[in-house]
Amino acid sequence: MNALPGKLNLSEWDDRYEQLRAGGLSEPAYGGPLRRHVIRERDFRLEQLRFDNSPAALRLWNFLLTENERLHQARARGCQIVGTMKDLGTVPVMAYSLPGVRAFYPDGAWWTPCLMECSDRLLQQAEAMGIDASFCPVRAMLPAFLNGEHFPRPDLLVCSTGAVCDDFSAIAQRLEHLGQPVLWWEMPRRRQPVAGEISCGLPGQLVAPEIQVACVRSELQRVGQALGELARRNLDDVLLAEGIRAANRVRRLLQTLRTTVYTAPAAPLPALEMLVVEMLAIHFCSDREEALAVLEGLLAEAQSRVRQGRFVIEPEAARIFWVNPVADLRAMNLLEDFGGRICGSDFMFAHALDLIPEDLPPLEALARTALADPMVGPTSDRAARIIRECQAGRAEAVVISRIPGASHCAREGEIICGLVREKMGIPAIELEIPPVCDALLPALGSRLQALMETVRARRTR
Ligand code: SF4
Repeated sequence: MNALPGKLNLSEWDDRYEQLRAGGLSEPAYGGPLRRHVIRERDFRLEQLRFDNSPAALRLWNFLLTENERLHQARARGCQIVGTMKDLGTVPVMAYSLPGVRAFYPDGAWWTPCLMECSDRLLQQAEAMGIDASFCPVRAMLPAFLNGEHFPRPDLLVCSTGAVCDDFSAIAQRLEHLGQPVLWWEMPRRRQPVAGEISCGLPGQLVAPEIQVACVRSELQRVGQALGELARRNLDDVLLAEGIRAANRVRRLLQTLRTTVYTAPAAPLPALEMLVVEMLAIHFCSDREEALAVLEGLLAEAQSRVRQGRFVIEPEAARIFWVNPVADLRAMNLLEDFGGRICGSDFMFAHALDLIPEDLPPLEALARTALADPMVGPTSDRAARIIRECQAGRAEAVVISRIPGASHCAREGEIICGLVREKMGIPAIELEIPPVCDALLPALGSRLQALMETVRARRTR
């Protein structure tokens, strides 16, 4: 059953799955061959990807790709479903504190056109609703909401507003105008305290004025009341504190996994699986306990490979810090094809990786964590964390993947690139990755190849 670490395409995984089954592979209820996601869900993109060959990675992919199915099953069992939009990591901690409540991000629909290679026609349907390609791929969420073919209609939909990109704000407002009630909560744009203001420390070595923390705290209290009404149970401090401890168990495991993979002499797990596993932090892929089990499996695999000195990527690969998630997952394979490996990442939800303080009143702790969101403060704050993590991970270059149409990053990439070059003296480039990047493969390949050559040339100086 054990195999040397490596990457397999879907056909190779068909064979590997049969071998694992014959060897007595034990799987959770959502387990099965990866191929079925192509056949049943039309996730055609899987045929273009290469996956880690471990049973732990198989479990991760099956967990990810069965989320909608598991949400429908949870509803059938009587669970309440909460759609939470934009905050990436805070409201789900509150929702999962209540028994019988599941939270998910409809925002995640932005991956659907890529996984289905646009056969879902969500982007075209969004365009017919007036949300064209000048918006980022999150526009796929709008028709997915209305046609009900992807995720279940939530019993409660919560969305942060204020310090939110124009794309999301416009799309969420359109959703409300089309008849979907939304519980809005205000997220102020994080700023430095001015003279005379009380300042508050936030996770991620950030600070904010106490008045902003108080604002977020009272907004989250309102969200908590709505969640409690939905669950018919008061979301009190005892429940919230336990919810925070449970979320921190996930975050601790993820921190250990990231450190294990990103600091190893060579990569024990591929970049693609690391992108997927980091996403578990934001809403536990709709099942907090199972997310823990998936993480434990991957951590055990990564640690065992490091102990045995067996890696999926060669040790001489260029150490790349990757910024922003990619709409087309194939881009993560591409990085490795051209001689790179990930040594750190900022997939836009760094605050969901930080531990939530357990020594503060729960709502205060959550408010501080929410305000540490890299996307609600100045780009210079985000760049400072990226530079710190590049230094810790001995990054040799930074890649910022631009998201087509995304209003959040019109100049953000340029600012981060400039600061990385100035403070670290390493190359930094921006690449635009569309939902299906096949047409751009030669251009993307050339840019990545040039970057790796630059890194190798710098090593011999
Ligand atoms: S513009 Fe950026 S932050 Fe906003 S929804 Fe799109 S990708 Fe997310």
